[in-house]
Amino acid sequence: MPTLQQTYAETVPELSVPHQAEAPPSPQLTWLNEELATELGYDPEWLRGPEGLALLTGQVPDTTAQVYAGHQFGQPNPQLGDGRAVLLGDILDPNGRRFDLHLKGAGRTPFARAGDGKAPLGPMLREAVIGESLHALGIPTTRALAVVSTGERIRPRQGITPEPGAMLTRVASSHLRVGTFEYAAWHLGPDVLRPLADHAIDRHHPEARDAENPYLDLLRCVAEAQARLIAPWMLVGFVHGVMNTDNMTISGQGIDYGPCAFLDEHRARAVFSSIDQQGRYAYGNQPGIALWNLSRFAETLLPVIAPDEPEAGIEAATAVLQGYEPAYLDAWTRGMAAKLGVPESPGPGAAAGTSTDAASDADAASDSAGVHLAAVRALGEDLLALLEAQAVDHTRFFRALTGGTARELFADPAPFEQWDRRRADLGGSSPRDDVNPVYIPRNVHLDAALRGAHLGDLSGVEEMMEAVRSPFHARAHLEHLAGPGEGGDVFLTYCGT
Ligand code: AMP
Ligand code: MG
Repeated sequence: MPTLQQTYAETVPELSVPHQAEAPPSPQLTWLNEELATELGYDPEWLRGPEGLALLTGQVPDTTAQVYAGHQFGQPNPQLGDGRAVLLGDILDPNGRRFDLHLKGAGRTPFARAGDGKAPLGPMLREAVIGESLHALGIPTTRALAVVSTGERIRPRQGITPEPGAMLTRVASSHLRVGTFEYAAWHLGPDVLRPLADHAIDRHHPEARDAENPYLDLLRCVAEAQARLIAPWMLVGFVHGVMNTDNMTISGQGIDYGPCAFLDEHRARAVFSSIDQQGRYAYGNQPGIALWNLSRFAETLLPVIAPDEPEAGIEAATAVLQGYEPAYLDAWTRGMAAKLGVPESPGPGAAAGTSTDAASDADAASDSAGVHLAAVRALGEDLLALLEAQAVDHTRFFRALTGGTARELFADPAPFEQWDRRRADLGGSSPRDDVNPVYIPRNVHLDAALRGAHLGDLSGVEEMMEAVRSPFHARAHLEHLAGPGEGGDVFLTYCGT
């Protein structure tokens, strides 16, 4: 069985405190991620036994609670932290990769503020389903190893009926957040920031170690990792819902799936979180919010990027941040090309015959690759406007493109037909089967499954898991999960999840 360590607490002791989870009165394993357990080197049968249950309820030595800060809805909050969670520790998997095991719903910690430290079963299962879905879609994400019900009834987050309490063991490549750096910068200074940044480099972005300015290069690596995270979110229609800086990782994995949701109808302004009244974290705002968060990250690094020359540091960091948008657009456009069945580069002959010498042929080829990608980007953007104008379901559309039935989704098919001719001109054909999912955790279906779990029936959650873990493969008995259901677009999720 993997050995738990506390590498983070040993490396940067200022940023966590020892803390033990409350022992739950009557724990029961509700869901175990056997696939992930095996990948990590755990025997699922051991995890199901008494020692496994002790681990999955935090009854192991030397656990800690991490402190961080953050910008929440744009406003700085000087102190946040694991209010209801403990870090069980970190482990090395059989391939030598390091992962944190983190337990959510573990009771109040010194960072709990007003909260009760508890987590309800529904939202913990929700986080597990979303993580499995994103993972199966090939998107970087934290994942749940297990959900344990505690046997307690806790204060309801919605409605008036007390909810069953639960604990979720989360596996993440680390829990370093932008908010962790904000805490170090605001309260502790360069003597802590430096080892924190070194730890982040060693753990996630070792290539930065050899750069001329490793901390500046850390910023570049994190910006690129975020571009590679947000682009596929946008392509699958995922809305995180609370992109506060404390919910943005340094690793580039998605984390904290509280009031998140997938689009049904394509809408740039879609918001599903009950607390996001201004739409700050609306679907279409996510790429820009990531850059805003990265700018806050850059500010924390300035004292170590250029300790003696603040102006030069700002200039260098600004230049690095300017790389985010092109990195994002590149990832988005290539992803969109795959979703549309369009090649990433123009067919042979597109740049030929324009000159007689090899060097200018190479220039012409690179120009024509750029022109092609720009045309794919415009094709994708125009498509999204078209889906929005005719209230077409995002996921259904792309899948119908694979099946050749997309036209039927438009009340007025003429603009689609015109668009589809442009797609053909760019070399478009049927997209690959493993690019556009049939199954995403649709709001209405997921909510129904979680309500069932609240009442003690896990069959809906199990069925949803089955669907989203193999999202590209249509199965007759899961047909009812493929469409949006009634009312998914006015769906609301609640925070404190
Ligand atoms: P989140 O919305 O899950 O990203 O959490 C934001 C902050 O609120 C974090 O510092 C959490 O630890 C804290 N928090 C959320 N729920 C609770 C709770 N039930 N008890 C104590 N702290 C909480
Ligand atoms: Mg959070």
